[in-house]
Amino acid sequence: MNLPLSLYGLTSERLVESLSLPEKRYGGQILAWLGKGATTFDEMTDLPLDERKRLSDLVGSPISSETTVREEDESGTIKLGITLHDGKMIEAVLLVDRKGRHTACLSVQVGCAMGCTFCKTGTMGLVRNLASEEIIEQYVHLSKAASRPITHIVFMGMGEPFHNFDPTIRAIHYLNQKETFNIGLRRMTISTSGVVPGINKLAELKLPIKLAVSLVSADDSLRTRLMPVNRRWPLDELKEALLAYQESVPKRLTLEYCMLGGVNTTGESARQLELFTRGLDVIVNLIAWNPVDELEFSTPSEEEQKAFSALLNRYRVKHTLRISRGRTIGGACGQLATSHNPETKR
Ligand code: SF4
Repeated sequence: MNLPLSLYGLTSERLVESLSLPEKRYGGQILAWLGKGATTFDEMTDLPLDERKRLSDLVGSPISSETTVREEDESGTIKLGITLHDGKMIEAVLLVDRKGRHTACLSVQVGCAMGCTFCKTGTMGLVRNLASEEIIEQYVHLSKAASRPITHIVFMGMGEPFHNFDPTIRAIHYLNQKETFNIGLRRMTISTSGVVPGINKLAELKLPIKLAVSLVSADDSLRTRLMPVNRRWPLDELKEALLAYQESVPKRLTLEYCMLGGVNTTGESARQLELFTRGLDVIVNLIAWNPVDELEFSTPSEEEQKAFSALLNRYRVKHTLRISRGRTIGGACGQLATSHNPETKR
């Protein structure tokens, strides 16, 4: 893929090189402007006027554009449709919680190859990976749409981050840089469906970033039916990888548990979940399934959710019952998908 030149993802030295800047200090100045949210050279008023004009002709910034799909719900959660340079579309979401905290939920792929049966993105198949520039630009678009500064980032949008490992890690480092957006690594969460080699690779990096694993069931046969990834890396291998991960990065893990009405909320499900979490420092995040028209699951009733939570209390499994944000605009977990991406592969 020939990616047009983007300003995002480059160090100040690389900016000097790629843009043939006549003075080295311009690289740092451009980086600082990008960090302040400038998206055009016209806004970079401490660069000479003729240089601004030359740069505007040389590079369009950003290389992706926010499209007309811009929806907001009563919580302030915003979903953006973003068109990439090759016409493919992705979605990114700005989540606003009860405390008013603004979190960017970024995509790492156009579509996803993992095929989780409860997820809308999974129905698309994989179209392509995103470059780190395209991941960073989602943050830029969301920042423009946000009423307050974004303080947290979750890589939980479209795609499996560990199937696009290097660009995702590059984007994380860029977003973390003091010279750019300065989002602390501790305020970022990377979420996987359970790709064990990716967990091992992340462990080697020893980043203080949060790791979340989408578990959905602690029963091998049910999990395989719901998440084909379990066929390749079943629960015992996944647990082994998580134990090893916590040896090298001693941080609490999150297990995302999407509750599917009448499927994974039984007493037996709770017992198996307790067995799986034994020996791990984890918090289970219970999220009720967000409806997707073409999928035949149901959202558990509030009583069912509370009953499952009570079962977990009885088994002393640390957990939270999460209120879903963005459900009404199709921007909640598992609801992201775009219809403009015809070629897919699994
Ligand atoms: S839940 Fe995540 S990994 Fe599974 S299909 Fe959806 S986007 Fe892909």
